[in-house]
Amino acid sequence: TRRAIVAANWKMNGDSALVNTMVSGLNNVELQDNVNVVICPSAPYLSALVVKAKEDKLNAAISIGAQNVSEHDNGAFTGEISTKMLQELSVEFVIIGHSERRCLYHETSTQAAHKVKAALNAGLTPILCIGESEAERATEQTETVLASQLQPVIDEVGIEKFIDVVIAYEPVWAIGTGKTASSEMAQETHQFIRQFLAKANENVAAKVPLLYGGSVNASNCEELFAQPDIDGGLIGGASLHVEQFKVICSAA
Ligand code: 13P
Repeated sequence: TRRAIVAANWKMNGDSALVNTMVSGLNNVELQDNVNVVICPSAPYLSALVVKAKEDKLNAAISIGAQNVSEHDNGAFTGEISTKMLQELSVEFVIIGHSERRCLYHETSTQAAHKVKAALNAGLTPILCIGESEAERATEQTETVLASQLQPVIDEVGIEKFIDVVIAYEPVWAIGTGKTASSEMAQETHQFIRQFLAKANENVAAKVPLLYGGSVNASNCEELFAQPDIDGGLIGGASLHVEQFKVICSAA
């Protein structure tokens, strides 16, 4: 069986108080054996989160992730954060190619591919985000778009390396809108993603955790996570509320 992952993407939200209440709250969360939880705060809070998690002896199944990373090792890249810096902070995961990075900051799939490579080289687990826009879904381009987001990464790192990659499918129209994909639609798309990977390597495809993201909440998580190709979620808004987030973690 594949491992399941519930990742919290705080985006540009949260503060020191949330770091503390989240760690305290997660201390008694009930998780299934194969479930990992990943908290991804804004970069200024990574260090505090690592320290607090250590102090409180947080469940080892709960890890910390960053929301972005540079594809470069070091140098004149003002405002960027390197894989080595994340490594030094004991960060284990990093979100790459989130739709907000793609739409608002013009990140390309080629850049995402370089970031995934840099993350893997540093021993970080990339959570690679892919997803179609509303217009692309309406014009039946979903599969073409997802393939065009995945292929450059496969070409860059090689399919064998996907054994250490987590993929998050986040339809852009479902992010922060309250419009979740139906569990049926999400499953169908996840199945397409797994089959696409399987064309390159069946064994690897069977093992890659595929997370669904987009308006996941405490009421819809159970049905989504029950789908055969949905191995957890990438949670935005609901991950800022400790009690809601705990319900979602326990549903995986
Ligand atoms: P929401 O859960 O707020 O829709 O955000 C989803 C997301 O983008 C997580 O990365």
